[in-house]
Amino acid sequence: MSQRRPGFPARLPSAVPQPSIARPALKLAGMQGSGVAAAPVGVGLDSVAVRARMVRRLSESGITNPPVLSAMGMIERHRFVDSALVNQAYEDTSLPIGLGQTISKPSIVARMAELLLGAPAVKTQGLGRVLEIGTGCGYQAAVLGRIAKEVYTIERLRALHEKARENLRPLRISNVHLILGDGMLGYPKGAPYAAIISAAGGENLPQQWCDQLAVGGRLVAPMAGPGGKQILLVVDKTTAGLKQTILEAVNFVPLKSGVA
Ligand code: SAH
Repeated sequence: MSQRRPGFPARLPSAVPQPSIARPALKLAGMQGSGVAAAPVGVGLDSVAVRARMVRRLSESGITNPPVLSAMGMIERHRFVDSALVNQAYEDTSLPIGLGQTISKPSIVARMAELLLGAPAVKTQGLGRVLEIGTGCGYQAAVLGRIAKEVYTIERLRALHEKARENLRPLRISNVHLILGDGMLGYPKGAPYAAIISAAGGENLPQQWCDQLAVGGRLVAPMAGPGGKQILLVVDKTTAGLKQTILEAVNFVPLKSGVA
């Protein structure tokens, strides 16, 4: 008979048929002998420790913002990946989430979140409304939900939009709003945004994103850079106009138009 571990609440059936067995325990290298073997539910405890280790690594790699590190330590990334990939959930790697898309690696989620919080206006006022383009499995949206007042996240693939809804439901995060639509058009209903973040890389910066960004707001997005290489772009909107800063090379899935 299948038994559900308390650490893993029920999931609605997904497109991929899943065997009716309990999820595998999170076994992670270096976590043996954690002293919790006698605990009836080792999974939850292990996942706390493994996330703490991930956060340590993030901070060693240069992420310093306490709310970002706290959000990364809180959101359970293993709940957003397929059960077959749970053991890799806290490695710093992107993982497939279906339909040729990927969940971004933790270090880039943290990096982009930190960039959003680094905007001058945000430093003084806190992070208000955020628009995320590319909900995917909903992981980054959940992280953003911890550091922003409101998050509007838009996904063009219906199946992923639904998957994110299922993934986020048990977390009961009330400030993350999921939208099915073409994020290249932004989401005017929530505008103006204190920040816009894209998890998919385009050729050009959509005008709508700039229009929907509040003055004092910051946009962070992968974009085709010089030589066709994808780079991380930061755009700050000031009363004087848009100020663009090109950061490091990145590797995101493409930004596409339309809903499918
Ligand atoms: N933040 C996500 C990453 C998903 S990958 C996570 O944490 O899992 C990027 C996502 O952007 C994909 O799901 C892709 O379908 C979506 N995407 C690409 N172009 C888009 C567009 N124009 N509007 C909305 N979503 C888009």
